[in-house]
Amino acid sequence: MTYSVAGLKTGDKIGKATVVIDIIKKGNPEIRPCTAMKPLYVTIHNTGNRGKGANAKAHNNLIHNLAGKSVRDTSHVSWHAAVDEDYIYIHIPFNETAWHCGDGAKGNGNSKSIGLEICMHSDQKHYEQAEENAIALTVHLICFYKLSANEVRPHQDWSGKYCPELIMRRDGNFAKYRARTEVAYQIAISGDKNTVVKGDENIMQFSSSTTKSAVRDELVQFVGKGLINQSWLVKFDKGEMTNGDYDGLKLIVNQRLIVAK
Ligand SMILES: [Zn+2]
Repeated sequence: MTYSVAGLKTGDKIGKATVVIDIIKKGNPEIRPCTAMKPLYVTIHNTGNRGKGANAKAHNNLIHNLAGKSVRDTSHVSWHAAVDEDYIYIHIPFNETAWHCGDGAKGNGNSKSIGLEICMHSDQKHYEQAEENAIALTVHLICFYKLSANEVRPHQDWSGKYCPELIMRRDGNFAKYRARTEVAYQIAISGDKNTVVKGDENIMQFSSSTTKSAVRDELVQFVGKGLINQSWLVKFDKGEMTNGDYDGLKLIVNQRLIVAK
């Protein structure tokens, strides 16, 4: 039978990842408590596991292994899904609680949030893509459970643990990651409601996808440095940015960089 979780089934594509639904067995409440949950938050983790090969599949094997042990051989450790650059493994249904936030049985992290683990193994090919896949999954969950990007939380919010560590160390805090999620959400809900008249010569045109992605990377950097508002990136991705917008943005960025010196 095809098992579906939050409208997802094995073989679906989320971001660039293939979804694999492989639910662990019931029996060990320290791994799968089987407590019903209406998700109100999505909690982002890095696995903390730098071991070679510690990808999403390895974490799926790990949690299946834990679920098969008796309580005296485990502790309260579980999560809903593990994400790497190629796969999203879902091990616990999103409408059940798991033990991933260190805030006890009554804490909103454990009892009200979906836990996503982003892999960070030392031999990982493309960590950034793993993050992009996690963002794509989060956007799907935000839409499915009618949440907002404000309900996307770092593990740190619930228990103080320095997690997701790679994201926090790179960005200084969780704000930029949440902003990226918000941009992706806005793009998702804007769909193809593209009001731009085709052939408008003021809309930026690109001779190749390489040039286009180079300009996009530049805009992402500007947003990341707080030089321009993220709504410009949304506009770009919707194909609505004009040559005038772009020239204006470059002027603004240059001015702000000069002021910052
Ligand atoms: Zn964590």
